[in-house]
Amino acid sequence: MPCPFCDRISSGPLDAENELAVAFADAFPLSPGHMLIIPRRHVEDYFALDEAEQAAIWQLVSQVRTRLDAERHPDGYNLGVNVGEAAGQTVAHAHVHLIPRYEGDVPDPRGGIRWLLAEKAKYWEQG
Ligand code: 5GP
Ligand code: ZN
Repeated sequence: MPCPFCDRISSGPLDAENELAVAFADAFPLSPGHMLIIPRRHVEDYFALDEAEQAAIWQLVSQVRTRLDAERHPDGYNLGVNVGEAAGQTVAHAHVHLIPRYEGDVPDPRGGIRWLLAEKAKYWEQG
């Protein structure tokens, strides 16, 4: 099966890389600077990665975050991993989303990733 992320690793250039993981910009960014950090090995399920691959991914998340701070000065971040189609995964190569957030990018950001299940996002309004 063709994989856009395996193709992306092959075509380069990459924004950051180490022995087991790479980082590049999301092609359809939710916000300026939205990045994807992925294992070099084609594995669909994040939890099927071995510990070294997971560590390599999170090392790059921190590295890329430092660069985003310096270059784009976001006011916050959302980190996300969609694991499985039921959770919304659309590309079958495990990846971490690193999403910079900017004050005012939405009218009310409270709840952040809770908006994955929008009807329950506002826990502070639930009795
Ligand atoms: P998922 O829904 O699987 O968590 O996220 C897939 C992400 O990959 C989406 O944010 C989408 O914008 C991004 N994406 C899809 N195809 C490509 C591609 O060919 N290149 C890059 N750089 N990003 C892609
Ligand atoms: Zn792949």
